[in-house]
Amino acid sequence: MKPASFDYHRPQTLEAALGLLARYGDHAKPIAGGQSLGPMLNMRLARPEHLVDLNDLVELDFIRVSDGVLEIGALTRHQRVATALEVRRVHPLLAAAAATIGHYAIRQRGTLGGSLVHADPAAQLPLIAVLGGAKIVVRGLAGQREIDAADFFRSVMTVDVRDGEMVTSVRFPRLAANSGWAFELFSRRRGDFAIVAVAVTLLLDSDHRLASLEMAFGGVGSVPLRLDVSAVAEAGAIPTEKWIAGVSTFAAQSLSPEDSVSIPAVFRREVAASLMEKALAAALARARGETA
Ligand SMILES: Cc1cc2nc3c(=O)[nH]c(=O)nc-3n(C[C@H](O)[C@H](O)[C@H](O)COP(=O)(O)OP(=O)(O)OC[C@H]3O[C@@H](n4cnc5c(N)ncnc54)[C@H](O)[C@@H]3O)c2cc1C
Repeated sequence: MKPASFDYHRPQTLEAALGLLARYGDHAKPIAGGQSLGPMLNMRLARPEHLVDLNDLVELDFIRVSDGVLEIGALTRHQRVATALEVRRVHPLLAAAAATIGHYAIRQRGTLGGSLVHADPAAQLPLIAVLGGAKIVVRGLAGQREIDAADFFRSVMTVDVRDGEMVTSVRFPRLAANSGWAFELFSRRRGDFAIVAVAVTLLLDSDHRLASLEMAFGGVGSVPLRLDVSAVAEAGAIPTEKWIAGVSTFAAQSLSPEDSVSIPAVFRREVAASLMEKALAAALARARGETA
């Protein structure tokens, strides 16, 4: 199919882009990598009268590290997030998750801002943003808002961006240098969207006992889900294999995934438990310095 007709705009500055979005309101849509919006236009699931192409806004393509924060511009492509030395150094979990998005060609075009606003419940970057307590920076002509990732994602493909606004960057708190971390996903074929994805960060104390644990799941609800497992993963616990199995089972049983004929809820829960076991083992090995 072909898209419905639209007027195409290619602003050269952020101010000009914001001006167009303000002028046309809900009749306008920004386009960045086009990897999600392109198919939606072709299938006429999206029919904006004005398309505002962000690709000349080079000021939104950046990676900066300062004061414990990794800030990444909205137009930064997935492949750059996956491979940039700064990201691999201060947030290796983010780099590892970005490297699993789709295929190389998609990672070369898709952008951080596009992925967050598209807000597929199984997408990698929203999951890492929610797990790590990232802040999404959104701008309109009237000014800037900084939204906690946990509040940004409202429902399937629905986020807290108002007409006339756009995402300009994302601020990820950097991982502690001695963090254990892991990202795991299960998909039908390599490069497909995940059926379930999990991400973990943890810290151990000097006796290799648990100091803190954060975990999040994608593909098990309408938005990425950060789970409080403090009831079964108390600080001071000795993380044995039995502990890993217990925490993973508890976490998976706490989920209420969609139940469908093609993917029953019980299957998603089983996959979630098994991915979480794998992720916890990998994160612990990293925290103990057994793997990079
Ligand atoms: C075959 C295939 C496989 C894929 N597999 C995966 C996968 O495994 N994991 C995954 O996470 N993604 C996957 N994707 C999607 C990919 O990551 C997209 O790049 C991403 O979802 C959208 O980014 P984009 O830059 O292409 O956005 P676009 O398609 O240009 O836009 C998407 C939405 O975001 C809005 N938008 C874009 N930029 C901004 C901004 N700065 N501010 C406000 N709104 C904005 C647009 O208006 C639109 O509503 C896949 C895509 C394809 C085609």
